[in-house]
Amino acid sequence: MGLFAKNKTIFVDSDVLVIGGGMAGCGATYEARYWGRDLNIVCVEKANIERSGAVAQGLYAINCYMGMQWDENQPEDHVRYARNDLMGLVREDLGYDIARHVDSTVHKFEEWGLPIMKDPKTGRYLREGKWQIMIHGESFKPIVAEAARKAATKIYNRIMVTHLLMDKTKANRVAGAVGFNVRTGDFYVFRAKAVIVAAGGASHIYKPRSVGEGMGRTWYAPWSSASAYALPILVGAKMTQMENRIVLTRFKDGYGPVGAYFLHLKTYTENAYGKEYESTWYEQIKGIVGDYIDRQPIPTCLRNHAFLEEVKAGRGPIRMVTKEAFQDPHLETIGWENFLGMTIGQAVVWASQNIDPKHTNPELTTSEPYVMGSHATCSGAWASGPEDYAPDEYQWGYNRMMTVDGLFGAGDTIGGTAHKFSSGSFAEGRIAAKAAVNYVNDLGRDHPEVSEDEYQDLKKTVFQPLENYAIGRNEIVAGTVSPSYLLPLHGLQRLEKIMDEYVGGISAHYTTNEPMLTRGLELLDMLKEDLDHLGAEDLHQLQRAWELQHRVLASESVTHHTMFRTETRWPGYYYRADHPKLDDTDWHCFTLSRFDRESGEWAMEKAPVYHIVD
Ligand SMILES: Cc1cc2nc3c(=O)[nH]c(=O)nc-3n(C[C@H](O)[C@H](O)[C@H](O)COP(=O)(O)OP(=O)(O)OC[C@H]3O[C@@H](n4cnc5c(N)ncnc54)[C@H](O)[C@@H]3O)c2cc1C
Repeated sequence: MGLFAKNKTIFVDSDVLVIGGGMAGCGATYEARYWGRDLNIVCVEKANIERSGAVAQGLYAINCYMGMQWDENQPEDHVRYARNDLMGLVREDLGYDIARHVDSTVHKFEEWGLPIMKDPKTGRYLREGKWQIMIHGESFKPIVAEAARKAATKIYNRIMVTHLLMDKTKANRVAGAVGFNVRTGDFYVFRAKAVIVAAGGASHIYKPRSVGEGMGRTWYAPWSSASAYALPILVGAKMTQMENRIVLTRFKDGYGPVGAYFLHLKTYTENAYGKEYESTWYEQIKGIVGDYIDRQPIPTCLRNHAFLEEVKAGRGPIRMVTKEAFQDPHLETIGWENFLGMTIGQAVVWASQNIDPKHTNPELTTSEPYVMGSHATCSGAWASGPEDYAPDEYQWGYNRMMTVDGLFGAGDTIGGTAHKFSSGSFAEGRIAAKAAVNYVNDLGRDHPEVSEDEYQDLKKTVFQPLENYAIGRNEIVAGTVSPSYLLPLHGLQRLEKIMDEYVGGISAHYTTNEPMLTRGLELLDMLKEDLDHLGAEDLHQLQRAWELQHRVLASESVTHHTMFRTETRWPGYYYRADHPKLDDTDWHCFTLSRFDRESGEWAMEKAPVYHIVD
């Protein structure tokens, strides 16, 4: 046993274990209590649910609300919208399921105290766009966290979950999870009948535009560390659409949101010479993707593509024309408030760069790629669909159960369902929890059991980086450098460089091909070998070490998926230069992967896309 075997082991039993207390996790915890009055509901979170996850700083708009009470939109409309934006490929059953339940979720938010802006003329929620409603959302996260706190048997904050546990009696059935307290170093063994993974998306897979002291400045939360993907991948759950990484067009250097600017302030973009540029690229885009360019609204990736082509043609930077809208004091206030409740950093960047949007049109840029399942993108786990709506091929068990028994997911975790955003993620958490409670009730006495050998081995593995450091520091040659270990930050920078250069990051202009991907995989393999030598100086660095492990596994998945899909389906998100066009004949399908941890091999396959909504 290693040096850190003396760390205390704490056992926690639960019926439903929710991993991650962000939007989806809070939704799952809340709903699990509703259906499972007497059940033991536990939520485990690596930060503190009060301000954790992508909504930590607040939001200014809820981006997914149908408005069915006023007949504004129907769930079918949202399915059509998401399908269009994702170039034809979404799980329509899952998307429909969220859309039909999302309004009641938003009504709950309001009941719990979230101020939603109203249109003074109609009394309805104030729309920012067709799907978005505007909120005073600085305290959005504490409001939903309170609902989860009141519902849970117990919330465990500050525990990073590192691995799932499998049942020792039945193959392919989950039995819990392990992790460590990032403050005390205690090792936790969570024994559970059902597990819901709601651990958010992934930033820092690709090298960000801001490096060095600015590297924490990313669009997606820097603490979104791919656990949502790595945890299920490691136990053999199938993943889907992992190639569908997202690139965002945002205000330069602060990644401030542009939605309210486009939709509510009615600002627009122009090139460096004051010209509209999107129409310039119409014919070129049509040559790559055909009729998809004629869909309305124009898919997000294609608008990115026009932006990138215009910059490559030497007519950048692209700017947002704010000078007109900001002359209206009401719109000016909204423009600033939009940042203050959500991305304060953008206001600070503008102040530091002498940009007053009333007098200067600010620059936009395209971000580095991110992996997530809830925005205009749909990477994540392959999940069983709703009984009343999913085609047979999408149903093998309970709603939102992955291909591992008892393992559920929601929010960024689940693939194939774009445009769920904060409200849809919470709603999906509720859907998953209801199904998980049914699963637990149906188990009867057939409970999963954890194996002592498995968690003891994992305990050693989890604390190994502390031991590597404790021993390796004796050989420090200069500063913090030792020949015997790799620091988490160095490993992260190596990962970001590989993904950036070989798998279509910013410095490769989002472009890759088979030889590049092949080399990328070789380099990822070499990085994985070195991860056994990660050195963690303290518990904070131990968390970084495990976040890196999760990011590397998710990156490998992204690379395999990108290799498998031999077409360019989403120009503006990434390009397969060796297959530069969209190919509906061969690739109007989902890509699925399964990782075998014994052999280290990835198996790839296609799954059909069923169009349920006309
Ligand atoms: C910049 C930005 C702007 C956005 N703007 C909007 C908007 O305007 N409107 C809107 O509706 N939506 C918006 N969204 C989308 C919304 O925030 C997400 O869709 C939603 O938060 C996803 O929910 P989730 O639960 O999957 O992930 P999160 O809310 O990120 O929650 C994941 C949780 O898991 C925890 N966790 C991660 N790993 C582990 C681990 N290993 N162990 C334990 N816990 C772990 C995290 O700490 C976190 O609390 C925005 C997102 C971002 C990043």
